[in-house]
Amino acid sequence: MVPSSPLLKRRILELCHDNQLSGHVGITKMHNLVAYTFLRSGLRADVEDYVHHCDACQRHKVNTRMYAGKLQPPSILEGCGKVCQWIAL
Ligand SMILES: [Zn+2]
Repeated sequence: MVPSSPLLKRRILELCHDNQLSGHVGITKMHNLVAYTFLRSGLRADVEDYVHHCDACQRHKVNTRMYAGKLQPPSILEGCGKVCQWIAL
């Protein structure tokens, strides 16, 4: 358990996130790292807030989402003729 000192909480989060060995890990990895050593209530929210406000993470965030692709008309409109195209517009 960690005493409820805001300065101490901040210092722990800095050590587990900003340190060169930790390497600005994401929320889940950082939460696991901090919770392994310093278990306390409200930890997840503090970790999320810290990572969301980390300047380095916000600048160099890697997009891990799959490419969305191009928009295509729904297959229902195919074979229906000009009436369906007019309705779709
Ligand atoms: Zn960071």
